Amino acid sequence: AGRLAGKACFVTAAGQGIGRAAALAYAAEGARVVATDRDAARLAGLEAQGITTQALDVLDDAAVKAAITAHGPLDVLFNCAGFVHQNDALTCTDEEWDFAFALNVRAMWRTIRAALPGMLAQGGGAIVNMSSAASSVKGVANRFVYGTSKAAVVGMTKSVAADYVAKGIRCNCICPGTVDTPSLGERIAANATAAGGLEAARAGFVARQAMGRLATAEEIAALVVYLSAPESAFVTAQAIVIDGGWTN
Ligand code: NAD
Repeated sequence: AGRLAGKACFVTAAGQGIGRAAALAYAAEGARVVATDRDAARLAGLEAQGITTQALDVLDDAAVKAAITAHGPLDVLFNCAGFVHQNDALTCTDEEWDFAFALNVRAMWRTIRAALPGMLAQGGGAIVNMSSAASSVKGVANRFVYGTSKAAVVGMTKSVAADYVAKGIRCNCICPGTVDTPSLGERIAANATAAGGLEAARAGFVARQAMGRLATAEEIAALVVYLSAPESAFVTAQAIVIDGGWTN
């Protein structure tokens, strides 16, 4: 039996990157996993690992409620969906601002709101939200609306933890540094011209890492499993930084 044997675990944005690594890690610990993503094609291969997959855009409130109700009551909710805009206070557009807050913040509230009744009815549950080191933890250049929205995730996490701590529900968030995922590749590509090529742009991301390397999605998933499992029963309301020493 694994550390999450029999637990119902629901993951958003599980098609690639950290969400996918977490879904696989949950399954390896014996959980009953529901992996969702806006892009159904990215969920390919997960069913073969015993994972239930479902297309789900977390911006679709009705679909979120229906999916979580159908698969509940949940023991674990991992809110992984998020988007990284590269902007500053002068270049951020109204559209970028609204999109970042809708996806990175409001959509987490909606999944939490859908999952809580089932968790309360069964007397417990664990919620893990995806924040970032770029948040209330650290100001990062050219991450204006991203850092602002991920700081809101820390506030939401602590608020939910405070309201439900006596009812068996824990809520924590994680604050990764730079993780080697497909979307990081896109951000590297976006910086390539300014940096003088793809290799130079990638080197720029690596150079800001104290360890001289990026995190792997699997290293982040290990923390997600810990915060989801009974071994972290005394941990709630925390924003846990996992950044290879970036914020030291
Ligand atoms: P990624 O960005 O490469 O992939 C994200 C996945 O989310 C994709 O499969 C995409 O289809 C899905 N997605 C996008 N919009 C969605 C929506 N509306 N509904 C459902 N799914 C949607 O993955 P990643 O880099 O591991 O990022 C995952 C999370 O981790 C994000 O919240 C991100 O902000 C956060 N994060 C990433 C890093 C990093 O360096 N990669 C660092 C800190 C935090």
